[in-house]
Amino acid sequence: MSTQKGHIGVTTENIFPIIKKFLYSDHEIFLRELISNAVDATQKLKTLASVGEFKGELGDTSVRIELDKETITISDRGIGMSSEEIEKYINQIAFSSANDFLDKYKNDANAIIGHFGLGFYSAFMVSKKVEIITKSHQDAPAMKWSCDGSPEYTMEEAQKEDRGTDIILYIDDESKEFLEKSRIESLLKKYCRFLPVPVVLGKKSEWKDGKTVDTDEDNVINDTNPLWTRKPSELKDEDYMKFYQDLYPFSDEPLFRIHLNVDYPFNLTGILYFPKIKSNPDLQRNKIQLYCNQVYVTDSVEGIVPEFLTLLHGVIDSPDIPLNVSRSYLQSDSNVKKISNHIAKKVADRLEDIFKNDRPQFEDKWESLKIFIEYGMLSDDKFYERAEKFTLLKNIDGKAFTLDEYKSLINDNQTDKDGNLIYLYSNNKTSQYSYIEAAKNKGYDVLLMDGQLDIHFVGKLEQKLEKSRFVRVDSDVINKLILKSDEQEVKLSKEETDALVETFKSAIPAMDKVDFIVGFERLGEYGSPVTITQSEFMRRMKEMSEMQGGMNFYGEMPDSYNMVVNLDNSLVQKIQNDEEGSKDVLRQLVDLALLSNNMLKGEALNDFIKRSISLI
Ligand code: ADP
Repeated sequence: MSTQKGHIGVTTENIFPIIKKFLYSDHEIFLRELISNAVDATQKLKTLASVGEFKGELGDTSVRIELDKETITISDRGIGMSSEEIEKYINQIAFSSANDFLDKYKNDANAIIGHFGLGFYSAFMVSKKVEIITKSHQDAPAMKWSCDGSPEYTMEEAQKEDRGTDIILYIDDESKEFLEKSRIESLLKKYCRFLPVPVVLGKKSEWKDGKTVDTDEDNVINDTNPLWTRKPSELKDEDYMKFYQDLYPFSDEPLFRIHLNVDYPFNLTGILYFPKIKSNPDLQRNKIQLYCNQVYVTDSVEGIVPEFLTLLHGVIDSPDIPLNVSRSYLQSDSNVKKISNHIAKKVADRLEDIFKNDRPQFEDKWESLKIFIEYGMLSDDKFYERAEKFTLLKNIDGKAFTLDEYKSLINDNQTDKDGNLIYLYSNNKTSQYSYIEAAKNKGYDVLLMDGQLDIHFVGKLEQKLEKSRFVRVDSDVINKLILKSDEQEVKLSKEETDALVETFKSAIPAMDKVDFIVGFERLGEYGSPVTITQSEFMRRMKEMSEMQGGMNFYGEMPDSYNMVVNLDNSLVQKIQNDEEGSKDVLRQLVDLALLSNNMLKGEALNDFIKRSISLI
């Protein structure tokens, strides 16, 4: 057969300028595409051999990458191609409405390459000329195909002893970086680390007589049997730990792992780890690597796993996740949606499992787990329903309860007169110490809600739990935190009230952007004389507006506190009756109340200290 010349079947436009021009940012993926083809060709041959259709020796099936001064050669010993197959698979590129599509996706190399099945043609992103030398595993002459980046190609018979395909790239001047071994090695590590056939780049080197020299041993880049492809029953804890360390060197040990293995209604394998979350969870996001039949696709999995699980680490492999498509396409793909839901379910199942079978361990790791679980419950109602059974509330003494357990704990003692269950909580054990003590003395239980998401979580629980309210311990005086009966009358005339409000107001040191509302209660002889509280409502509005940032109604308002004066207290009665020395008592009481809320500062604090010393 003589040399055949022809036109590559591009109908509307020459594809090469497009490949070069638009696909600039993603040039490096040519290597992934060509090696994936080589791996496919090898896997196909193995399949044929396993069903008896290929009877020859398989022998060494490694894919080899060789670098020369001007060329990169990628060789496989797979099925190879006959001249008809080259004609069909390489020369005829079927295009439909190419122009429209290119226009739309010109910035998305993956989409273009995937849409056209242009895997092989990505070679032209880095080459001025590409040759294919290939020999089919069936009886057919070896062929050489050559193309210099114009739509013309040549094809002729060639000399090749062994079956398989060599792709020879003549690297263009702008792409010289790809001729460096270190660059290729790092790309192979990124894209080919877990491919199922050995990928060889040159020889292993060793240190000898003061320099590195090549040994006889092949430099195999990849692990052909990565952990997620193996049976969980064959694996030990150490294996999972080692794999985690390989993926994320220098990371802390993960909390838990989940080995995914689904074959219906879609195929999915993988291993997910719950990492230890440090202070900034955003830094830990998007560490899951996505593979398609052991070919690396991406490490940005938004849209593929539910938002709250982007905090997880590990690997997901699914042949049902389309390899070369744009992100927006991926997110609307129905398979991908199913996969996302399925992963969320698996994660919930696994957590429930650990909770049921090893509650001490679950409680032990709760502090780190909590952020995942609360995040999931806040953002995904299905997950909320699943997590209801195992999510924990911890009280001030570190005791953990499920939602149901906690409800029965407080049901008798913390139901108010209207039948609402009142969950008391603190978000700071130290600064709310006196309020916590007061609540405990009354036989109440106090939850510790000091996590990053707890403000939101409290709101979520109020929505979900029937007739329940969350009240922070410092939001009212102890007698009024949980109202058991209608309020007692205070019995002061309007004049008396006004006068006493004035007296107390006059004793409050000036503070920027802080207001006090003075009120009176009968809290018993031994009840604290003056207490400062901030209503749950006011505080939450403030918190919300702080989170939203910017100027808004509640953000602009001064902080409003209640100063609650206990009319049963003898010191207060002294002030009320304007007895001798009561001016000092008044100031001391007000300052002490402020002090116990950490609100006495600067000059006011200094005055208080001086006055206290002189009183002693
Ligand atoms: P895709 O891999 O998406 O089908 P490509 O353009 O990468 O698109 O390849 C087109 C076809 O060319 C492949 O489906 C395969 O039939 C053939 N081919 C490519 N590379 C090889 C190879 N190394 N060995 C055998 N056949 C190959």
